[in-house]
Amino acid sequence: MPDAATDPRRAELADALAALRERIAAACRAADRDPAGVDLLPVTKTFPATDVALLCDLGLDEFGENRAQEAAPKVAELTGLRPGSTARWHMVGRLQRNKARSVAGWAHRVQSVDSVRLAEALRTAVGTAIERGERERPLEVLLQVSLDERPARGGCRPEELAALAEGVARTGELNLRGLMAVAPLQGDPGAAFERLAGIAERLRRDHPHATELSAGMSGDLEAAVACGSTCVRVGTALLGSRRLASQ
Ligand SMILES: *Cc1c(COP(=O)(O)O)cnc(C)c1O
Repeated sequence: MPDAATDPRRAELADALAALRERIAAACRAADRDPAGVDLLPVTKTFPATDVALLCDLGLDEFGENRAQEAAPKVAELTGLRPGSTARWHMVGRLQRNKARSVAGWAHRVQSVDSVRLAEALRTAVGTAIERGERERPLEVLLQVSLDERPARGGCRPEELAALAEGVARTGELNLRGLMAVAPLQGDPGAAFERLAGIAERLRRDHPHATELSAGMSGDLEAAVACGSTCVRVGTALLGSRRLASQ
């Protein structure tokens, strides 16, 4: 049923999605890659569940959030707006261990695992959730690696990665799927993503199933696609600018 309050927004999102898909396709052509190998993950932080519902109507079914406190109610709200929705949620932001229980309840994948302690908290939380029948599957995990020396932005140091991967791969509750990174605030994202591609290749030598590489956002997705990204995480280029400062 047409709804006066959401229709203009629906058109706006449809236009932005078409433009974004074209941008990703062009990036794939430039890199001589098959667009089927690059997933689009809309990052819906600070935007309401009604926007997520409209994106579901437009055929998207995976969404990223960066704050556990914001995500949990939004996930529940979407279920109310689109009962029977098959949406899957990714946690892409920094995660405190005391939020592991909540995240284990709604996340399909956590892209921001950057310490053994966090992995351990998630493993325990997922085990409990499975035991209680609150989730069926292991949690998919990407390890976040830092491409600059700013621990505040999340990510482990490249030299810590092998041990962290080993710890995650040993558990039945966590399923190691690959790597995630954010380009440094300054400098050439292409150089950073090239370095990331080398780190990803080394990880795959020890963990052949860890094939996902989540890299690239609204401002730098072309550079990421050129370096082998399999998942671009896009907020502003799809949903518009964020009013809240939730970087
Ligand atoms: C917000 C966010 C994005 C999307 O950023 P845009 O620049 O708005 O596309 C991607 N990844 C993470 C981890 C984020 O927090």
